[in-house]
Amino acid sequence: GTEVVCEGVVHVYPDPSGDDVVALRGVDLRVAPGERVALLGPSGAGKSTLLALLGGLVRASAGSLRLDGAEVRTMDERALLRLRATGVGTVLQGPSRNLLPYATAEQNVALVQRAVPRSRRRGLLAPRDLLDALGLADLARRRLGALSGGELQRVAVAVALANGPGLLLADEPTSQLGTAHRTAVLDLVDRVCERFGTTVVVVTHDPGVAARWDRTLTIRDGRVGSEGRLGRDR
Ligand code: ADP
Ligand code: ADP
Repeated sequence: GTEVVCEGVVHVYPDPSGDDVVALRGVDLRVAPGERVALLGPSGAGKSTLLALLGGLVRASAGSLRLDGAEVRTMDERALLRLRATGVGTVLQGPSRNLLPYATAEQNVALVQRAVPRSRRRGLLAPRDLLDALGLADLARRRLGALSGGELQRVAVAVALANGPGLLLADEPTSQLGTAHRTAVLDLVDRVCERFGTTVVVVTHDPGVAARWDRTLTIRDGRVGSEGRLGRDR
């Protein structure tokens, strides 16, 4: 898995009228390879912003974010593309930029896997296997535009895990799911983590999800605060 180190991460969303929003005010964070961390905190605290910075989707204003020692904040576009294609899996809030609405679930998964270097590709879980594990077997050949919100959310999880990522970044990945599907998602994440040693950072308000991970971090007002140990060590 990927080692994640954040030091003094600041992020400001500029506003043309001068009301800049300081979303992160100096985040220090260290996640060990293979560690699974639940990120909690009130709405507007900066959770989504931190995930976007870690995934290389938004450039931090200041500070340092390193993935296995590589500085994400100053990476060029080509390196960011490679990171997103082969190193990181992301499940973000809202309509996913990772998904092709006119392709089927199976095609979306397969497409992600095609970007993985050949030498690593044979170790990946097959698209059908990923989709079956999430209860999507019967929907594998339907285009995403015809799926419900909960179904799409599960497809997004399958796509995020398809490249056997070193780092999984997920923003409320089970928010639209009932108990059975939520358990299926968590079980699949466990399986992928065991196979690839994946490091996990998940934003969640679901105590059941948080209890399964190694550690819980809380963000408040742009800073990482109390650091509790829950989950497996409890
Ligand atoms: P959380 O995920 O914890 O709810 P966010 O990271 O979404 O928090 O937001 C942190 C702060 O940054 C909030 O004040 C929010 O309004 C602001 N913010 C988030 N995204 C943007 C954006 N694209 N442009 C301007 N402000 C934003
Ligand atoms: P989920 O709990 O997976 O989100 P929903 O309760 O949203 O499922 O939907 C229940 C069923 O209705 C789904 O299995 C889905 O196939 C079907 N459905 C929901 N929205 C649509 C839609 N826009 N087009 C076709 N089928 C839909």
